[in-house]
Amino acid sequence: MKMILLGAPGAGKGTQADFIKTALQIPVISTGNLLREAIAQGTELGKAAQDYMSRGALVPDELIIGLVKEKLASPDCAKGAILDGFPRTVPQAEALDEIVDLDVALYFNVPDAVIVDRMAGRRTCPTCSATYHIENNPPATEGICDKCGETLGIRRDDAPEVVLQRLQVYHDQTEPVMHHYAAKGKLVTVEGVGAVSEIRQRIAEALKIEA
Ligand code: AMP
Repeated sequence: MKMILLGAPGAGKGTQADFIKTALQIPVISTGNLLREAIAQGTELGKAAQDYMSRGALVPDELIIGLVKEKLASPDCAKGAILDGFPRTVPQAEALDEIVDLDVALYFNVPDAVIVDRMAGRRTCPTCSATYHIENNPPATEGICDKCGETLGIRRDDAPEVVLQRLQVYHDQTEPVMHHYAAKGKLVTVEGVGAVSEIRQRIAEALKIEA
């Protein structure tokens, strides 16, 4: 199964990717996480991406397309993959069409006001990238990652002014990607407002997989 997760930043893609990955036994490729790792490691890609990311802008297509092509060619993706955060522009979607025959584009429909509220309470693990929300999806111990025990932090691009910029970029550049897949009959929409468990159930029904 080859699928992409589409939706605004904070729509719940990363949170739900975990269970889809377990149900389908295929890896998640999160371009945002790959870029943050590249920045932490100080690679050329990280240096090139850093300024765009801190401003809430998109990294240039050519950098990100090469990265995704390389990941998709790896043996772990032989049975498919879940792409989280890619494609984010129509040229990225066209590049993806040339390398894989996508099964599903799963779109998380969440209003902007809910996104802004969620981002204000989002906490992220700097080590394993797991995300939480202080009220809607808290860790078992406040401030500590359930998965790896690391102290949780706030992503720099989750600052309110950067969130508004990221939402604008989403409407301008990523919403057309939704129309690209709708025209191909591959778009599956899930209402992304509600408890994590409710949304998980909706996704399971839409994809006909175990919740
Ligand atoms: P995310 O973790 O998916 O919210 O991504 C964080 C940031 O990484 C975005 O705001 C962009 O600056 C950059 N980024 C992630 N994926 C892409 C992509 N497919 N194309 C361009 N920039 C990206």
